[in-house]
Amino acid sequence: ERHFVVVGASLAGLRAVEAARRSGFDGPITVIGAESHLPYDRPPLSKKYLEPVIDGGRPELPFFRSAEAFAHELDAELILGSPATRLNTEKQEVHVANRVVPYDVLIIATGAHARELPGTQGLAGVHGLRTLDDAEGIRAALEARARTVVIGAGFIGSEVASNARQRGVDVTVVEALPTPLVRAVGPAMGAAVAALHERNGTKLLCGVGVSSVEGDGHVERVVLADGTVLPADLVVVGIGAVPSVEWLEGSGLTLDNGIVCDANLFTGVSGVYAAGDVARWHNPLLGRLQRLEHWTSAAEQGAAAARNALDPAAAKPYSTVPYFWSDWYDSRIQFVGFPDADEVSVVDGDVTTSGKWVALYRKNDRLAGALTVNGQTEIMKYRGLITKQTSWNDALEFARVRREQAAA
Ligand code: FAD
Repeated sequence: ERHFVVVGASLAGLRAVEAARRSGFDGPITVIGAESHLPYDRPPLSKKYLEPVIDGGRPELPFFRSAEAFAHELDAELILGSPATRLNTEKQEVHVANRVVPYDVLIIATGAHARELPGTQGLAGVHGLRTLDDAEGIRAALEARARTVVIGAGFIGSEVASNARQRGVDVTVVEALPTPLVRAVGPAMGAAVAALHERNGTKLLCGVGVSSVEGDGHVERVVLADGTVLPADLVVVGIGAVPSVEWLEGSGLTLDNGIVCDANLFTGVSGVYAAGDVARWHNPLLGRLQRLEHWTSAAEQGAAAARNALDPAAAKPYSTVPYFWSDWYDSRIQFVGFPDADEVSVVDGDVTTSGKWVALYRKNDRLAGALTVNGQTEIMKYRGLITKQTSWNDALEFARVRREQAAA
């Protein structure tokens, strides 16, 4: 009987367990997680979970499943609050605190952790946002109406800023790059979404770095490279995430901005597969290695890695058009595809006057990406067109027809 082991008790790890059971695997399953919480969903941590709750109670915890469901429905053993510290691929063993867990099949889904801002360790009031415990700290500070400085105008920083504003808290976002989200959506749409911050009363300072975060035990101010001093009781650092691979040093896996895998999510080491934010796999659609930090791909990769690991002879490549969403104020931003474009064209709505628009991204003569703001019904249509490698002209024609249909 084979032992199916998952390291990382979050989205990709859970989906791996579910897929293993769905595929008929009935051997023992063990899930090892560093956090003491049951597996929970992260997107709400910078959205719903930060919102005020009426009557001062606690917000709903975003757990995926109960302990009973893990034990009975999934028949999986959970080892929580205990990080894996070492992987021995020769003996096929994972080391945890005072235990060695042997495996036949191993799915590594250790995700990523928030990148720290150097020089802020030990300063109270400075938070990254990756875990439930982080969100708890930020929530408490927002409840206390902390003057908030957000460092980094990516998804997480921008969502925290939205929440702070919606509570009426004073918030400034500092971004070293010229616009928010520039790596994820490119400069043109980065500038367009920047306006959402300004329209909602969030101060946004772009193109300026942070020179120091200061305070005596508790943070008091953020000093910028141009000399600006921002008083702060809460600093949220959203400057990206780092794949959690430290424990794999010396394991023989190829580590290079994540765990390098082939198109089947196979690491090249017998029995070992990777999935989710930690995996840098060969995306056949892109023709090169890619590491995503998006919910949908983490969930899908968890399931795909488990199926491939349990039946390598029938392994199928995992390929995807990347997709993510982010909620700012009353706007839902959604993006599919690849932001590196030769041209970005707004095909519906207006970025300056309307709270709703569709932008298409051209690379050579193809449709490469699409961004919508409050265009939930549109975005998946464009995902389909990108998958089919639709030409730019056909995509523009498609957009024209959609626009006419909507107007009629
Ligand atoms: P993770 O969720 O990072 O989980 C990895 C788990 O492994 C963690 O629990 C970690 O503690 C554990 N671990 C690490 N090292 C070890 C070890 N050595 N031993 C055992 N366990 C270990 N994506 C979107 O598409 N849309 C959104 O709106 C969105 N919002 C987000 C908001 C926030 C605040 C955050 C943090 C992320 C958001 N994401 C969003 C990204 C999405 O949540 C991630 O892509 C997803 O969580 C990745 O899942 P994962 O299982 O690969 O890794």
